[in-house]
Amino acid sequence: MNKEQMIQSMTDIMAKFTGYMGKRLPDDVMSKLRELREQEDTYLAKVVYDSMFENQEISDKLDRPSCQDTGVIQYYVKAGSEFPLLAEIPEILRNAVLEATKAAPLRHNAVEIFKEKNTGNNTGERVPIINWDIIPNSKAVEVEVYMAGGGCSLPGQGKTLMPGEGYEGVVKFIFDVMTSYGINACPPLLVGIGIAGSIEVAATLSKKALFRPIGSRHHDERGAEMELLIEKGLNDIGIGPQGLSGKNSVMGVHIESAARHPSTISVAISIGCWAHRRGTIRINEDMSYEIISHKGVTL
Ligand code: SF4
Repeated sequence: MNKEQMIQSMTDIMAKFTGYMGKRLPDDVMSKLRELREQEDTYLAKVVYDSMFENQEISDKLDRPSCQDTGVIQYYVKAGSEFPLLAEIPEILRNAVLEATKAAPLRHNAVEIFKEKNTGNNTGERVPIINWDIIPNSKAVEVEVYMAGGGCSLPGQGKTLMPGEGYEGVVKFIFDVMTSYGINACPPLLVGIGIAGSIEVAATLSKKALFRPIGSRHHDERGAEMELLIEKGLNDIGIGPQGLSGKNSVMGVHIESAARHPSTISVAISIGCWAHRRGTIRINEDMSYEIISHKGVTL
């Protein structure tokens, strides 16, 4: 394959995968939803979960997105420093969004700031959003594709607290958000929390926390314990599936952290809904690929 053919091949793969993950939820989300359904004992809660499973079946059968809000497309790229198309990735991902918008199809969700005009193709200034991590000595690229909906993770919130407010202040902020705006997303929710020394770092980490496999834990045992305590507290509120009450309000709580300045502690929250459309794909230097989030799938 020459370089032009490789660019075309990666664009096709990313366009197909971007459209695909709007129609089928990743394996860990499906398995968590099944587990949560089993824990419910009211007819209403079970029916709500059943409607979610039916939604997935119909979406599969009709080959249509499972929710009307296909979101703003966000790509989190772990790029190998020796991946042959490193410089071309932004253009490839932009073209992938243009193709997926027509083929999937995806709702038009990019409105230019100040012009207040919808571009009609899901691309615009800095959209699709691309975040980068460079992986040394690797020839592959791993891309997290995420559909950020207008009711779930896009209205995330954050605050820099006075250091004296400590971790108690962090928890208070989380519960204040979750019991007011949090419910805008369709539960059960996946809660991503970022804790850092400044608001922009906390905000990015809160989004990255949504990409961790459901049930994985923070690397520090105190962080892991905090995740479990917040999860229990949010479940005890009884929001339940679609906010209609039930035993569980969340699919999980994930915290990502960065060292902070002694004088600041910032916290941010991003909330994923039950239709947590996230997908992970790894593309090798020869353009072969593996879909990590949806086992056994070929595009
Ligand atoms: S919160 Fe999620 S499931 Fe509900 S409308 Fe928004 S994207 Fe769709």
